Amino acid sequence: MRVEARRPVEVVEAVVGAAGRGVLARGAGRSYNDAAQNGGGALVTQPEPTITIDPTTGRATASAGATIEQVLSVLVPHGRFVPVTPGTRLATIGGCVAADVHGKNHHRDGSWGEHLTAIELVDGHGDRRHLDPVATPSEFWATVGGMGLSGIILSATFDTIPIRSDQLAVTTTRTGDFDATLAALAEAEDGHRYAVAWVDTSATGSRRGRGVVSGGDHLDAADAARGSGEMAYAPGSPIPVPPTVGRGPALIRPATIRWFNRLWYHKVPRRATEVPTSIGAFFHPLDGLGRWNRLYGRRGFVQYQSVVPAPDDVLAQLDALSAGGATSALTVVKRFGSASPAMLGFPCPGWTLAVDVPTAVPRLAATLDRLDRIVVEAGGRIYLAKDGRTSIPAVARMYPRLGEWRRAVDKLDPQGRFQSDLARRLGLRTGGPT
Ligand SMILES: Cc1cc2nc3c(=O)[nH]c(=O)nc-3n(C[C@H](O)[C@H](O)[C@H](O)COP(=O)(O)OP(=O)(O)OC[C@H]3O[C@@H](n4cnc5c(N)ncnc54)[C@H](O)[C@@H]3O)c2cc1C
Repeated sequence: MRVEARRPVEVVEAVVGAAGRGVLARGAGRSYNDAAQNGGGALVTQPEPTITIDPTTGRATASAGATIEQVLSVLVPHGRFVPVTPGTRLATIGGCVAADVHGKNHHRDGSWGEHLTAIELVDGHGDRRHLDPVATPSEFWATVGGMGLSGIILSATFDTIPIRSDQLAVTTTRTGDFDATLAALAEAEDGHRYAVAWVDTSATGSRRGRGVVSGGDHLDAADAARGSGEMAYAPGSPIPVPPTVGRGPALIRPATIRWFNRLWYHKVPRRATEVPTSIGAFFHPLDGLGRWNRLYGRRGFVQYQSVVPAPDDVLAQLDALSAGGATSALTVVKRFGSASPAMLGFPCPGWTLAVDVPTAVPRLAATLDRLDRIVVEAGGRIYLAKDGRTSIPAVARMYPRLGEWRRAVDKLDPQGRFQSDLARRLGLRTGGPT
């Protein structure tokens, strides 16, 4: 059952009236898995966006259903920017808080929750609660990264960062192997607020791990003339991928992935170059193509994202993927900074790897199980907003604060009203299958 709650009282009614399979908040459904699904239960969306900003302090409050795009269209003309943005502008503020999302600036600015000053939540008693990191730290940090299982967020208040242009200066560097990729990434992180590496998984032998490293900063006033000259944010409509593409043979498949990787690598100039780049092109490139998932055909793809303490653990995963014939169309590596206090937060110090692999790859499940073992043995974890297939014991080892989180959530929701397919599959609330 879907509930479109236009007022907080309707959210309260949905929570109090929840039956056996419970209730769950859904944002824009941009998580790559079953986190925002609740088969047989209720799903609550909040379609009325409200966004306010205090122009003096730059502190903003947004309703949970407001998207990053809607928030940016209010902030940018005021010369402000969200403290963290995921790789899609379509994610909602509720979804960003519930997954404690990270962005290309994690090494410097941490995750979304670290910029929040308050959350308004409807808990499992149906009570409207004001949560903040000082007065209610346990409830607050169980909700940040809590995947919607502590309650339904009505709104969030967060600090924003000042910007003086709506463009960024982005420097792109091509690297010859994995060591060079890591070195360029470290340099980009030292010199830039935003840094990320794309890795060419088609390259083997001495070129294994080669890639393209980008470092970016918001242009400052002196450079503003190179930007659009106006502080505005209008990302435009995406180019749609027609439905017929999704019904035909997959355009992204192992053979085409190898070509795509090579082309992408060689399109970048050999020498580092700096180019003024729009917010959309730098932060949300995939949103430029509407329904890009159709390119993977009927069977789709799996996204796997991990964080591990050392670069060797990233290489071990890349090697395991390669050995399993699981070529990734889009492979991203980035170093995370320190972890937020969120009990189920994903980012922690180390190296994150994200890969997109077509589901049609033979024995993919066994290959991803192998990746899980590498990650667990290394002391790492995989991202709960992206996993669709890991095991209950693996999650227990990846998230050592799961017990602490359960105790905090049990207080907010003693009757277990908040449920999701993800929570049932991984026994998040109970420790076992439900
Ligand atoms: C192209 C693309 C790029 C991405 N890049 C990144 C990235 O760089 N970094 C990153 O961290 N993530 C990234 N993601 C993942 C995405 O940002 C997260 O999954 C985010 O949670 C999606 O927000 P949503 O509004 O779509 O939430 P949904 O997918 O609808 O929900 C996600 C979770 O949030 C909960 N939730 C949503 N709204 C509320 C609410 N009001 N109250 C309580 N809980 C709520 C849901 O119950 C669910 O558990 C990316 C996803 C895509 C598709």
